Amino acid sequence: MLGAVSSQKQVNSMAAANCSSCDARCCRLTVVLDASERIPAHLTTEMSGGLRVMARAEDGWCVALDRVRMNCGIYEERPAGCRRFKMAGPYCSAIYSGAATRSNAA
Ligand code: SF4
Ligand code: SF4
Repeated sequence: MLGAVSSQKQVNSMAAANCSSCDARCCRLTVVLDASERIPAHLTTEMSGGLRVMARAEDGWCVALDRVRMNCGIYEERPAGCRRFKMAGPYCSAIYSGAATRSNAA
């Protein structure tokens, strides 16, 4: 049975990434903001070195994430970095399959 579970996990990890079955894994990555971006200040924070980023809650998810729908709560105004992040693109696929960590995918 363990083998069957492992095989199913392998199949899932090889399946094309899809936001509807993902739990917003990319919304736990560090999102660096361009100086020109007008994201409300309470949703952002400053890292050591002065880099402005989206703030994350203690559980790691971006504070702008809508926890009920598990999608972006500021979708129309989301940062440029989030706009560039494409479903089933290389970074998304790596995160979706568990191959990437926050530090190497951010
Ligand atoms: S873009 Fe990729 S990592 Fe982000 S929620 Fe969609 S499937 Fe998941
Ligand atoms: S701004 Fe929106 S899309 Fe970007 S990480 Fe936060 S919740 Fe996700």
